[in-house]
Amino acid sequence: MPTGPGRTLRPAASPAKSAESKAAESLLSIGSEANNVNVTAADESELADGATSPKIVVIGAGPAGLTAAYVLAKRGVTTTVLESDTVVGGISRTAERDGWRFDIGGHRFFTKVKPVEELWFEILGPDDFLRRPRLSRIYYRGKFYDYPIVPMNALRNLGFIEAVRCVLSYLWVRIHPPKDKATLEGFVASRFGWRLYRHFFKTQSEKVWGVPCTEIQADWGAQRIKNLSLFRAGWEAIKPKKLKARQGKSKQVTSLIEEFNYPKYGPGMMWEKCTELITAKGTKVVFDSRVTKIEHEGGRAVTVTALTDGVPTRYECSHVISSMPISELLRAMDPPVPADVLHAADSLRYRDFITVALVVPEADGFPDNWIYINDPSVKVGRIQNFGQWSPYLVKDGRTCLGLELFVNEGDEWWTKADEDLIENGKRELQQIGLVDASHVESGYVVRMPKAYPFYDAEYKAHVATLARWLEAHASNVYPVGRNGMHRYNNQDHSMYTAMLSVENIFGAHHDIWSVNVEAEYHEERVEEEAS
Ligand SMILES: Cc1cc2nc3c(=O)[nH]c(=O)nc-3n(C[C@H](O)[C@H](O)[C@H](O)COP(=O)(O)OP(=O)(O)OC[C@H]3O[C@@H](n4cnc5c(N)ncnc54)[C@H](O)[C@@H]3O)c2cc1C
Repeated sequence: MPTGPGRTLRPAASPAKSAESKAAESLLSIGSEANNVNVTAADESELADGATSPKIVVIGAGPAGLTAAYVLAKRGVTTTVLESDTVVGGISRTAERDGWRFDIGGHRFFTKVKPVEELWFEILGPDDFLRRPRLSRIYYRGKFYDYPIVPMNALRNLGFIEAVRCVLSYLWVRIHPPKDKATLEGFVASRFGWRLYRHFFKTQSEKVWGVPCTEIQADWGAQRIKNLSLFRAGWEAIKPKKLKARQGKSKQVTSLIEEFNYPKYGPGMMWEKCTELITAKGTKVVFDSRVTKIEHEGGRAVTVTALTDGVPTRYECSHVISSMPISELLRAMDPPVPADVLHAADSLRYRDFITVALVVPEADGFPDNWIYINDPSVKVGRIQNFGQWSPYLVKDGRTCLGLELFVNEGDEWWTKADEDLIENGKRELQQIGLVDASHVESGYVVRMPKAYPFYDAEYKAHVATLARWLEAHASNVYPVGRNGMHRYNNQDHSMYTAMLSVENIFGAHHDIWSVNVEAEYHEERVEEEAS
C-alpha cells in the first residue's frame, strides 16, 4: 500500500446519533451495528396502498437505488434492482483501469443529513472510511489562488490595486444590485461584485455548462453557494480556530469544509459493499439491464420491462423506485404520455462529463485534492490528484491526475478517440505549467453521460409537468435521486430522497421534492462539484 508525505490515513469518526436521527431510525428500523441488515418478515399490512405482496422494482444501482434497496431489505422486503451498466455506483462509482482507481469527479462524503451519515458508516464500517484533509486551489492567469479564498493570498496574487477594485465593485453591487438575480450571473455578482464574478466564476461556470451564465438559472448557484458571500468567505478565512471548532456542522458552509470522509478505494467501494449486503439478504441486482418500458393501467405501473443482452424481461411490480433520468422514465411509459408531457420530457437538458486520467510520477503530483483551471484557453476545467484523495487509489510511487472535461454527449470532444483526449490532456498539463507532458506514463478515458441535470429557465416547469403526470397516472412510481428528479443532488440528498420514498411506500407523506430545497432538509448545503 503506497503512502506518501502529507497523507493522513486517519479513519473517519462514526457519527454520534442525534435525536432527529434516532427518530428517523425508529421509522426506518436502522440497526446501530455496522453492516447489520436486520431482515425480518415483511409486514405487508404496513404498505400504504394495501399491496399485499410487495414486488418492488428499483431502477438504477447508483446511490439512490441501492439506498432504497438497502432500507427495504432492512424492513424485510427484497427487491429487484435493474441496472443498465455492468458496475454499481452510477456517477459515484470507482472506475478501475489496470489497477488504477479513480472517481468520476471526486466524491466527498459530507452531509448535514444525520440519517444519511449514519447509513454510510453502517454500510461501510468506520475502518474503510478515511478522514482526509482538503486542499484546493484555483489556477487563474498563471497563478494559484487558495480556494476557499484566503484574503492575503488573493491580495498578493491580484495585486493591491485590483484587490481594491474588487472591494469597490462589491460595495457597488450592495448599492446597485444586478437587475436580474434570477440568472447565475446576477446571483453571483450580487454576492461577490462584478469583478470577482468575472475573475473567478464566469469562465469556470461557462466551462461547466457550455452556455453564458445569463442562460443558467440562479438555482444552481443557490444550491452551491447559498449562504456564502464575499463577507462570509473573508470572515471564515480569518476566524479564530476555536470559534470554528465550536461551530456546529449545520452552520458550516460546505464549500469551506476543511476535511471530509472518503472510502479507502473510492466512492464505489460504498456501493459495492452495499450491493454485497443486500444480495446476501436476497435482493437481486441485475446488471446490463436497461429499463425501456413501464406498462401502466388504472393509475398505477404494473410491469417494468428491461433489455438484458437485447432480450426483454418483464417484471411485475407493486411499486417502482426509479433513479433513471426522469425524462427517460416518462418516455418509457406504455401507453405513452400525451404530447405536452412528452414535450416536457424531451426538453430537459443535461451536461456530460469526461475524465482523462493520466498516470504520472508521484513527484509530479500536487498537494491539492483538486485544482480548478480557470483558463479559457484550455478545455480542462478541473484536475483531481487521486493520490491525495486516497493513497489506496494509486500505486508504484505514482499518482493519477484526473482531467475533467465538461461536454455534450455526441459533440466533438465526446466523440474524440481516447488517444486524442490523452494527447490533448498532456498538452494542456504542459501548457498550464503543471506537469511536463513527457512525464505522463499512461492514460485512461471515462465518459459519463448525464453527469449534470441542466438548470435552464424552463426546467422547473418541465419537471413539475412530469411529476404531476406520474402522480395522476402511475402513483406507485417514485422518482428519486439526481437525474431521477432532475435535481442537482449530491449523494446525500439523492440517498435521502430514496429513504423518504421508502417511508412513503409504508404510509408516510414526505414531500421528497422539498429535499435540497427547503431549509428543513437542506440547511446551508453548498456543494462544489465543479467550480
Ligand atoms: C463531477 C461530479 C462530482 C461530484 N461530486 C460529489 C461529491 O463530492 N459528493 C457527493 O456526495 N456527490 C457528488 N456528486 C454527485 C453524485 O455523483 C450523485 O449525487 C449521485 O451519484 C446520484 O445518485 P443517483 O443514484 O441518483 O444517480 P446515478 O449515480 O446517476 O445512478 C443512476 C443509476 O441508474 C442507472 N440507469 C440509468 N438509466 C437506467 C435505465 N434505463 N435502466 C436501468 N438503469 C438505469 C445508471 O446506470 C446508474 O447506475 C458529483 C457528481 C459529479 C458529476
